[in-house]
Amino acid sequence: MNSEELFNESKNYFPGGVNSPVRAFKPYPFFVKNAGGSKLTDEDGKSYIDYCLAYGPLILGHANPKVVREVSNQLTIGTAYGTPTENEITLAKEVIDRIPSAEMVRFCNSGTEATMSAIRLARGFTGRDKIVKFEGAYHGAHDYVLVKGGSGAATLPDSAGIPVDTTKNTLSVPFNDEEILTDLIEREGDNIACIIMEVVMGNVGCIEPKPGFLEFVRKITEENNIVLIFDEVITGFRASRGGAQEYYGVTPDLTTLGKIVGGGLPMGAFCGKKEIMELIAPNGPVYQAGTFSGNPISVQAGISTLTQLNNAFYKELERKGNFLRGNIQSIIDDEEYNVQPVGFSSMFQIYFNPAPVYNYADAQESDRKKFLRYFKSLLKQGVFIPPSQFECNFISNAHSMEDLQKTSDAIEISLHEAFKK
Ligand code: PMP
Repeated sequence: MNSEELFNESKNYFPGGVNSPVRAFKPYPFFVKNAGGSKLTDEDGKSYIDYCLAYGPLILGHANPKVVREVSNQLTIGTAYGTPTENEITLAKEVIDRIPSAEMVRFCNSGTEATMSAIRLARGFTGRDKIVKFEGAYHGAHDYVLVKGGSGAATLPDSAGIPVDTTKNTLSVPFNDEEILTDLIEREGDNIACIIMEVVMGNVGCIEPKPGFLEFVRKITEENNIVLIFDEVITGFRASRGGAQEYYGVTPDLTTLGKIVGGGLPMGAFCGKKEIMELIAPNGPVYQAGTFSGNPISVQAGISTLTQLNNAFYKELERKGNFLRGNIQSIIDDEEYNVQPVGFSSMFQIYFNPAPVYNYADAQESDRKKFLRYFKSLLKQGVFIPPSQFECNFISNAHSMEDLQKTSDAIEISLHEAFKK
């Protein structure tokens, strides 16, 4: 069956034909047959240079040989034990060595679990109920944070099925706005357990913090005994070896991780100050658990991946990112397209927006119809980016200079298509 036939059949079995909403792009998503390095091949025999990379985990590209070899070995000696392994310590050391805020870690199974648990932990630590997030930030699909969410939820108001009582303690403020946050903390500071933030907003495109904004948030949280949580599910081991907190030089109290930490297999983690982490069960009163937490397959994939990520690796990845972003900038300058190219390190996006984007409201001003024409034209030319203006595109070390040049050429054509009258 081809992708179209598979999607039609799939709709009988899965709501919308998919197992996660953003995948259901129109008229139908391509169904993947296999993948390797920078490329995906679909059931129709077409090949794509992949900048979605499973929405972030695959910093080494698909089916990295070392990851495949070591995970395959692990498969032959068991997939879940229900009791600890030495490899969990090995991976914890890799995380702690890299992430500046990490003194202790707990592994879990997804980014969603990581943020849910980190928020519970912050509430347990402070004895306060309220939490603050930034408009458009996405922290996973659990009830407390699906308030003015980004990602799939950016196109839905919120979600049905979440009692108002559940989200009444979730306060949202615009990103990059010191004044509004100061006002909120003046009013509510004593009741706020934590501020959870994507350091770089990766679920409404790619929005960097303004210079000084992170330092400001760090200072105001410290002054008010509020736990600062950096949600680095995307940026952890992506923005730099030590994530966005190392890149920008600001250290939170807790950090949530996902995606790259599991080397392409399901995994999440939260980590941070020992004083706070020690409150988790069985040591402390904050409950958190999981049958597959720290499972040997994901842990091995994490080790096999992180051990390949050194400073030279990030330098090379940044060089590739700069090459692609430089090409995009030249195309835009030459043609005088009214768009905003953004990104750094191995992340990039183009906002179809005439003005700079500093927060969710700015991002919403983007011309989604033009973006969609751009996306479809890229797809036709064998370049796959996430099908939404409000996602970020990623580069892996498996992307060759030839891939990047081909992609630049395709972007030139696709921008032209998007702006065609
Ligand atoms: N936090 C951020 C910043 C994310 O981007 C995501 C997922 N894209 C999550 C949390 C949730 O992670 P998961 O999909 O693994 O549950």
